[in-house]
Amino acid sequence: MPLYEYHCAGCGSRFEVLQRVGQGSEGLECPACGTTDVEKEFSTFAGSVGGGVSFGGGGGCPPRGGFT
Ligand SMILES: [Zn+2]
Repeated sequence: MPLYEYHCAGCGSRFEVLQRVGQGSEGLECPACGTTDVEKEFSTFAGSVGGGVSFGGGGGCPPRGGFT
C-alpha cells in the first residue's frame, strides 16, 4: 500500500497515512488537532517519477549471445 501525505487545513501539520490507491481523504482526521479538514499532498511516490527514472535499465536491449 502506498503512503500518502496529508496536510491539515486546521493546524497546518502534516502526517502520512497508508491508504489504498484511489482512496480519498474521507474519514481521515488530523492526528494533531482531530479535524477532518485535511488535504492530500503529492506523495513522494508520484514526485519521484518523471525525473528520468527508468525501470529495467532502459534501452530495450535484450541480453543475447548467450547460447548459439
Ligand atoms: Zn490539525
